[in-house]
Amino acid sequence: MKLAIAFLVLLSSLLPDSSTAEDFDFFYLVQQWPGSFCDTRQGCCFPDGAGKPAAAFGIHGLWPNYAKCRGRHHREGGGLARAVLGADDAFLAAVGRRGKCWPEYCGDGGQPLSPWDVRDLVASLGRSWPTLSCKNRRSFEFWSYEWKKHGTCSNLDPHDYFARALQLRERHDLAAVLADAGIVPSDTDTYPVDRVRDAIAQGTGFVANLECNRDADGEAQLFQVYQCVDREAKDLIDCPLPMPTKCTDRVKLPVF
Ligand code: 5GP
Repeated sequence: MKLAIAFLVLLSSLLPDSSTAEDFDFFYLVQQWPGSFCDTRQGCCFPDGAGKPAAAFGIHGLWPNYAKCRGRHHREGGGLARAVLGADDAFLAAVGRRGKCWPEYCGDGGQPLSPWDVRDLVASLGRSWPTLSCKNRRSFEFWSYEWKKHGTCSNLDPHDYFARALQLRERHDLAAVLADAGIVPSDTDTYPVDRVRDAIAQGTGFVANLECNRDADGEAQLFQVYQCVDREAKDLIDCPLPMPTKCTDRVKLPVF
């Protein structure tokens, strides 16, 4: 009997502890401007047969992040820099060498999201977190992917993870914040990127990071805004990390 108990104790000490909290430093709430997703060479599609989403920033994800990259064995340095940093190749290689910059697919590689988990949030998620990808066209698949990759590392259950992302987004309408500073969607006008940055800092009270992409003619445009959020996913904070950016001096905010 004693031997059996000793064996069980030894076995449990060898198994991974699924209750271990992830020790990330902050979240990025990443919101995308649909005009800048759609007018690239890859184009876009509208989800769930629901028609064109509103001309508003939509959530891309709520991503736990480290303030400094950790360890040496980072499997997806490229994915990181593309997704989080929007960096050039040299920086990307450096990040890959520096280590893992955020946790992903936590627990048993990422528990799948159940529609039951978010049943009371589906209408809000459909409005505020629509997929624009032509690969699947179902927003639930987008939420599910984001939950598995990022949400499972958030120390939140699925319902809180999505509810808090929605609450954070509802606090500031970024398109309105930009419009208040005279930055309105246009296919011809460009705006100094510092003016965009200042408008968001002024309108939300916190410094965010900006990511740009290029339209089909190669012109730089504001694509995603990375707002930094505390570890409970409740309040905005100033971003602790500057982000290398592909935004040029002046950027577009294309009509959607
Ligand atoms: P992440 O950047 O979170 O690592 O990955 C985003 C994934 O979600 C990509 O595989 C992308 O194809 C997919 N996806 C589906 N819908 C969207 C969307 O509306 N915007 C973006 N940026 N990615 C989307």
